[in-house]
Amino acid sequence: MVYALLEVQSEQTYVRHHVQKVALFFAAMRAFAAERAAEGHRVEVVRITEAVPDFATGLRRLIDATGATRLELQQPDEWRLDQQFAQLEAQLGLPIEVVPSEHFLTTRDEAGQLFGSAKHWLMERFYRQMRTRHRVLLTTDGKPEGGAWNYDAENRSPAAKAPRSYPPPPDFPNDYSEVLADIQAAGLDVFGSPEVAPHYPITRAQALQLLEHFIQHALPHFGQTQDVMLTDQPLLHHSLLSFALNVKLLHPREVIAAAEEAYRQDRAPLAAVEGFIRQILGWREYMRGVYWAKMPDYAHTNFFGADRPLPHYYWTGETRMACVRAAVTDSLDRAYAHHIQRLMVTGNWATLIGVAPAEINAWYLGIYADALEWVQLPNTHGMSQWADGGLVATKPYVSGGTYLKRMSDYCRGCAYDPEVRTGPSACPFNSLYWHFLHRHEAKLARNPRMAQMYATWRKMAPDTQAALLAQAEHYLATVNEL
Ligand code: FAD
Ligand code: SF4
Repeated sequence: MVYALLEVQSEQTYVRHHVQKVALFFAAMRAFAAERAAEGHRVEVVRITEAVPDFATGLRRLIDATGATRLELQQPDEWRLDQQFAQLEAQLGLPIEVVPSEHFLTTRDEAGQLFGSAKHWLMERFYRQMRTRHRVLLTTDGKPEGGAWNYDAENRSPAAKAPRSYPPPPDFPNDYSEVLADIQAAGLDVFGSPEVAPHYPITRAQALQLLEHFIQHALPHFGQTQDVMLTDQPLLHHSLLSFALNVKLLHPREVIAAAEEAYRQDRAPLAAVEGFIRQILGWREYMRGVYWAKMPDYAHTNFFGADRPLPHYYWTGETRMACVRAAVTDSLDRAYAHHIQRLMVTGNWATLIGVAPAEINAWYLGIYADALEWVQLPNTHGMSQWADGGLVATKPYVSGGTYLKRMSDYCRGCAYDPEVRTGPSACPFNSLYWHFLHRHEAKLARNPRMAQMYATWRKMAPDTQAALLAQAEHYLATVNEL
């Protein structure tokens, strides 16, 4: 048996990637290859510097070199690769056996079977079924631990109540000089800081160390600071486990089990543990189900008809809006941003100004080390941009400056004022929020979860509405200068 690891050009060019994302993938693949070789396995690695254009070419080369007579593949996680791999048997002229992925708790089609043709796919329904089926956080008689399925009401403190000290994650002493040199030598079109953040694990041993560290130091506070955003604390109590999970250094089952055990041993409160487990047992598996049920058409929906190009500051962080500056700068620095930065800052802003879904999707898919289309697309296209018209989220995740002021400390360092709605110092999120509601009224006003917002809008005096809309129009006309 030969393990084949291929660094091919086609996987680098389907979007423009953050240099740390590419470096981490290559480093983790090379570490895996070295470990298997040390165990005595035969391992073949095709390096990016060999300029192999695609998998078919790379595999042809390896088949010729090794005399392989059959190939075994685990189902890929992305639709793009499914399409490519479906051609391999004909291209290579040898039998290929494809086995399902072992790295999830559900099969590709499970969420699709549960929801069928329903218009809205309520994650909470899926999550409860997963809790019951996998017997997670249940009492012995099958009831949800503590009497409720969801403890969000106890989580999510505002920024002012967040703790001021955070456990730093472990630093892993990985040397990226060789992969970075190879990325440069191969002439890949990458962006972002090449200083790979030291909190990324690239081996299973490191991933287990990160998991243990999170369970011990951060999980007890996870729920409390889950939605907080602080300028000098880009990591807070988040687990930083998404890269390790997505490249399969960890199985979701062991992460969930470790969190549940912490609760059973009284090392973390139920609200934090349930909130964390929901992200993995619920959201992560659910998003995968949405992806496989709805691709490829899903990627092309555009419910709001948004068509604006992505503003330049998504690539540089150079904007006077402190919240966008912080979320983008953190992302460029470490190929990571936590969920609320992605959802309520960069995602919120792109929705408010009407960025074309294809543009914002490509940005999210390129910039984060954990970005793989099966999880990035439903999160960006569905949850964040509502480009699917509400399949994933019951209402668009948009807000004005008041929410961002409550949940972050960004506004203190901003050129704009979150309390001001019109005039030169007005927070752009404020008027754009009302402009968004106004311009999509025909599509959103009947949504019961938007009723209160539309009632507030309608109660406003006509001249207040006109001033807000004029302010928003001004900001839309100068969106690259904000
Ligand atoms: P934590 O906050 O510690 O959460 C624990 C784990 O739960 C994560 O590691 C992740 O595996 C899982 N998780 C949490 N939220 C979600 C979610 N909404 N969907 C799926 N899994 C979730 N996650 C990715 O893994 N890859 C992506 O490309 C990606 N793109 C996103 C784009 C947008 C616009 C948004 C709003 C969210 C996106 N997410 C993505 C989900 C989430 O933001 C990240 O999983 C999380 O920020 C990773 O950091 P963490 O490991 O510290 O997570
Ligand atoms: Fe962002 Fe507005 Fe606050 Fe500035 S004032 S940080 S633009 S929410």
